[in-house]
Amino acid sequence: MSDYPYADRLPVHRTLPEEGTPREAVLAELDAMAREEDAFWETGKISGTMYCGDHGHYDFLTQAFGRFAHVNALQRDMCPSQTKFEGEIIAMVLDLMHAGAVTDGEPVGMVTSGGTGSILHAILAYRDHAAAVRGIGVAHGRVPNVVKPETAHPAFDKACHLFGVECRTVPVDPVTTVVDPAVVAAAMDENTIAIIGSAGNYPYGTIDPIAQLGALASERGVGLHVDGCLGGFILPFGEELGYAVPPFDFRVPGVTSISADTHKYGYAFKGSSVVLFRDKAYRNAQYFHMTGWTGGKYMSPGMDGSRSGGLLAATWASLVSLGRAGYRGYAAAIFETAAAMMAAVRAQDGLRVMGSPTFCFSFTSEEFDIYHVSDFMRGRGWRFNGQQYPNAIHMAVTRPQTQPGVVEAFAADLAQAVEFARAEAAAGRTSESGAIYGGMPGGIAGLTSEVEEFIESIMDTMLDAQQALPPVQAAAGEAR
Ligand SMILES: *Cc1c(COP(=O)(O)O)cnc(C)c1O
Repeated sequence: MSDYPYADRLPVHRTLPEEGTPREAVLAELDAMAREEDAFWETGKISGTMYCGDHGHYDFLTQAFGRFAHVNALQRDMCPSQTKFEGEIIAMVLDLMHAGAVTDGEPVGMVTSGGTGSILHAILAYRDHAAAVRGIGVAHGRVPNVVKPETAHPAFDKACHLFGVECRTVPVDPVTTVVDPAVVAAAMDENTIAIIGSAGNYPYGTIDPIAQLGALASERGVGLHVDGCLGGFILPFGEELGYAVPPFDFRVPGVTSISADTHKYGYAFKGSSVVLFRDKAYRNAQYFHMTGWTGGKYMSPGMDGSRSGGLLAATWASLVSLGRAGYRGYAAAIFETAAAMMAAVRAQDGLRVMGSPTFCFSFTSEEFDIYHVSDFMRGRGWRFNGQQYPNAIHMAVTRPQTQPGVVEAFAADLAQAVEFARAEAAAGRTSESGAIYGGMPGGIAGLTSEVEEFIESIMDTMLDAQQALPPVQAAAGEAR
C-alpha cells in the first residue's frame, strides 16, 4: 500500500483549487477509486468490514440519505422528520432488545455516531449518574471505576481515558474465552460504577455470562453495560432461528444499558449506532444544556453538536425496509455460513476454534504459527484480523461470505495453508504477518515503546499523507 494513495494516477490537492473541478470529473475520479476498492471485498474473502455488501441496498440507503443529507438533526423546529426517525429507530431497537419486559425502569435510548459513540455515552452516563446519586466522583475524592473483561472493546478504555474513570481489566477463561463473574466481583469495590459484558465480544464472538453478571450488578447496586455493538442485530434472530444464544438483553435483570450497532449487522451506513438504557435516569444524567450562553439557550442530548439528518433517515430506512423477516433471512445465511466455515477449521488437524462462538469466530494452533496460515491465505486474497495473547485468526462472517462458493474456497485454501504452515515450522521460518497484525511478544519491556512508536507512525500516515509524498512525485501528480 502506498503512503500516498492514487498519487500515480489522480491529481493531488495541496491547496484549495482556485477554479472548481467540474462535477463529472470529480465523480469520475471517485468512481475509479470506489470500483477498485469494492472489487476487493466483493470476493467474500474479507473478514467483517462490509456487513451487507448488497449494492441494491446501498443504492436505496443513498436515496434515503440524499433526501436529508443537508439537514441538521439538531434543528427539530425545522425538521420534525428527525424526531420521527430518531424516536422510531430507538423504539424499534428497544423492542428488539425486549425493553417491554422491563418493570423496574423506564427504558429509553439515543442514536449515536457508532459503537464507540454508544459506549462513550454509556460510560459518561454511568459516571454522571454515580456522581449525582452515589457521591462517587473526583469531586467527592472517589475515583470511579468500571470492570471489563479483557475481550471487551478498547472503546471502554477510551471512554475511561476521556472521562477520568479507572478501567479495571480482568482476564477471561482461556478455554471458554468468556469472563468468570467471580473474577469480576473480585475486581469491584465501593467506587465501581458499572461492569461490562459483551454479546458477543469482537475477538472471539463469544458471549459473556450476562445473566450472572446481571445478578452481580443488581446485588452490588452498579450498572451492567452489555456491548451488543457486534451481536445486537444478529443474535436476536439467531435465537429465533434456534441457535444457542443465551439471553443478553433487557429480559435479564440487572442489564442497565445495551449498545447495538445499526452500522454493523443493522446494515445501515457507517456512522450510526444505538445505546439503550433500562431507565431514563441513566441517559438523562449525561444531558447537556447551557441556559446562559450569549448565542441563546443551548442544549444537545449527547456529545455531538450538529448531526446528519441523512444518517438518521438512512438508518431508519434500513430498519423499516428490511423488517424482522429481512434480518432473519440474512442472519440464517450468516449463521449457516459461519457454521460451515468453523467445520472447515475443525476438520484440520492442528487448528482449534476458540470457545463456542456462532457468527464470528477465531481459531489458533498449538502446533504451528497461525500467522503462517494467515500469510498463505493472504496470497489467495483472504484478509483476516490477527489477534494476540494467544495469536489467533479472527473471522467475522458477513453477507459477502454467504455467496455461493466462498465456503468451499475457504475450506480448500485452508487445507493448503495448514500444509504450508507445517512446512514453514519444520524449516524454522518466521511468519510475515505477525508484526503487522500485532503478534508482538507480550511483556518484553524494550519492545513496547517500539510498538507504540510504530502504531503512532501508522496513525500519522492516515492523516499526514501530504508530508509522506516525495516532492518529485508530488510535482508530477499535482492537480491540473
Ligand atoms: C465494532 C465494535 C465496537 C466499536 O464500534 P465502532 O463502531 O467501531 O466504534 C464495540 N464493541 C464491539 C463488540 C464491536 O464489535
